[in-house]
Amino acid sequence: MATSEELHKRRVEAVARGVGSTIPAYVDRAGGGTITDVDGREWIDFAAGIAVTNVGNSAPRVVEAVRAQVERFTHTCFMVAPYESYVAVCEQLNALTPGGFEKRSALFNSGAEAVENAVKIARHATGRPAVVVFDHAYHGRTNLTMALTAKNMPYKHRFGPFAGEVYRVPMSYPLRDGGLDGATAAARSIEMIEKQVGAENVAALLIEPIQGEGGFVVPAQGFLPALREWATAAGVVFVADEIQTGFCRTGDWFACEHEGVQPDLITLAKGIAGGLPLAAVTGRADLMDAVHVGGLGGTYGGNPIACAAALASMETMRELDLGAAARRIGAVMGERLRVIAAGDPRVAEVRGRGAMLAMEIVVPGTLTPDPAATAAISAACHAAGLLTLTCGTYSNVLRFLPPLVISDDELGRGLDILAAAFG
Ligand SMILES: *Cc1c(COP(=O)(O)O)cnc(C)c1O
Repeated sequence: MATSEELHKRRVEAVARGVGSTIPAYVDRAGGGTITDVDGREWIDFAAGIAVTNVGNSAPRVVEAVRAQVERFTHTCFMVAPYESYVAVCEQLNALTPGGFEKRSALFNSGAEAVENAVKIARHATGRPAVVVFDHAYHGRTNLTMALTAKNMPYKHRFGPFAGEVYRVPMSYPLRDGGLDGATAAARSIEMIEKQVGAENVAALLIEPIQGEGGFVVPAQGFLPALREWATAAGVVFVADEIQTGFCRTGDWFACEHEGVQPDLITLAKGIAGGLPLAAVTGRADLMDAVHVGGLGGTYGGNPIACAAALASMETMRELDLGAAARRIGAVMGERLRVIAAGDPRVAEVRGRGAMLAMEIVVPGTLTPDPAATAAISAACHAAGLLTLTCGTYSNVLRFLPPLVISDDELGRGLDILAAAFG
């Protein structure tokens, strides 16, 4: 077998430079809480392929379901000749997502595609043009979702011009907004929308209940409910982007549930199908069904293999109670992170929920972001066998997203490596 070094040489000659990788090691196999490269080196996995393999890599039920489906048929296109698993995934999503009202779902390939479709549906249903998004938001890399995303480098730089009718307002970011309470922070954002956009022009308010790429920013309590209440009164479609927070990651099926928020539409992807590409928009039947027949779809959306994997993944989440697993991981990890933070003035804050935790790194005694120190700590982790990711508008947040099936031993070893990386 080729070594990682040999594969990396081939990659540089074959793969576009714009597609980066966190580690220069090439994967041979992965499962539980580890990834092993072609040279036999092992990493403890605190990334889960960016919050995708919540049920673990090659989860037994997923493998079995995919194998069975591949043998039956691989693709007919749901828009041409439909099949049961697509319907079954939609039924499950309608039942699992917050809100007892009647729902419908539609399936797509990627998170960005789900977000684009949520905006299409909200605009169609309301007849209004504007979309409101937040500072630090991340919603994808297609033209519309670049416009919805806040951070320039690396996502938007020189890729414009971007889609119009997108308006950005402040996020509740307690560490960096002087600790505004949720209601006050929401009032600030709402005033900006009303003065600068006009509520009657707004189709959708789109928000990540806990921001992902933007820095694992957890809004102050009350922020989401206040926005939800305003959206209802203003006839604005409240869209929760749960692409990173969904499917047990934060200790509930969906992060909105923590404050009892019921979105009109939810965008889903990442953790939905145990690593197979699938995404969804789920929401109020009246909004979803406003769109004419043929107005939604795509060649591969709801591919039968991905649907089989999604059904098996959701079954695994129920069977292993991965919500409880996420809460347990969060308790163990949170305690260790807070010990590290207490002994290191570079850590401004430990935040997150469940198995979605982060540390924000600053110049000691200030709130000045320190992306260099963040990169150095991350590199030390990688060198010692722990796969971690960074994020944040200021590239100064270390984030931890282990598979929810990681063993206590693997979790402990990963946290030991992290503690050592802080020196
Ligand atoms: C990853 C992500 C997306 C985009 O999903 P892709 O599958 O990469 O297109 C959108 N929103 C959030 C919150 C994400 O974390």
